[in-house]
Amino acid sequence: MNLDELLERLKMEHLHATLDSLCEHASKEDLTYREFLEQALAQEWGGRHQKGLETRLKQARLPWIKSLEQFDFSFQPSIDHKLIRELSGLGFVERNENVVLLGPPGVGKTHLAVALGVKAAEAGHRLLFMSLDRLVSTLVKARQENRLDRQLQQLSYPKVLILDEIGYLPMTREEAGLFFRLINRRYERASTILTSNKSFTDWGEVFGDQVMATAILDHLLHHSTTLNIKGESYRLKGKRKAGLIPRSDLSREVADVDKPDKMDKQE
Ligand code: ADP
Ligand code: MG
Repeated sequence: MNLDELLERLKMEHLHATLDSLCEHASKEDLTYREFLEQALAQEWGGRHQKGLETRLKQARLPWIKSLEQFDFSFQPSIDHKLIRELSGLGFVERNENVVLLGPPGVGKTHLAVALGVKAAEAGHRLLFMSLDRLVSTLVKARQENRLDRQLQQLSYPKVLILDEIGYLPMTREEAGLFFRLINRRYERASTILTSNKSFTDWGEVFGDQVMATAILDHLLHHSTTLNIKGESYRLKGKRKAGLIPRSDLSREVADVDKPDKMDKQE
């Protein structure tokens, strides 16, 4: 077998594609055999990692890709930059803990959730993004079609599940029950990142039932970090600067009555 065949059989497509330039570089730089081998294998590894990441990001169905580096922390001083840095270390994913991002529209909840999700995908974790609306219709449909258990199982695979926009649409008790079953499945097995414009005290209304809301919160918050973002909408930033909207209209807050502090980490 010649080298081309060997690389093909070994499925080293990335190394195969760049071998000529790698060899040229090695002779120019006078690399040792060991250095050359290291660079060649690093090339293959890098290519595989990139391809895996692209697949994971495609499967994640993110609405858009944003990074933590693109987030302007100076615009949102209520966010503890250090806490976000700690979360981006992904310890919460290793420990199957949850992250809850609360705050009014436009303060960057989805941006931060997506950015943390992308970090997890970069680290090799399976990621899935769903608006709560889509999650609920998916679960309701699965139940109607008698395949709820399989659907719940499928939704428990992603190591990180982002559930966006809890509270925008109220749920029926039946829908809340389905949501609870999912949270229960993932409890202590995988991480869920949730965003909501409603404070925890309003979740009874969101889930159409106080007892159900308490059970959901109990499971979600047992191992979790909550960020309560208080600030102005980034979407309206330019408009306020232009004097189109008075400041007071922009600074509605989501008050977290249970936890008056802006951040809270629960064990
Ligand atoms: P929310 O989910 O809280 O309603 P988003 O995360 O969707 O808000 O943010 C709205 C838009 O503003 C997005 O395009 C997001 O990338 C951007 N954005 C929000 N906050 C910031 C910020 N502090 N720095 C940079 N971009 C931001
Ligand atoms: Mg959002």
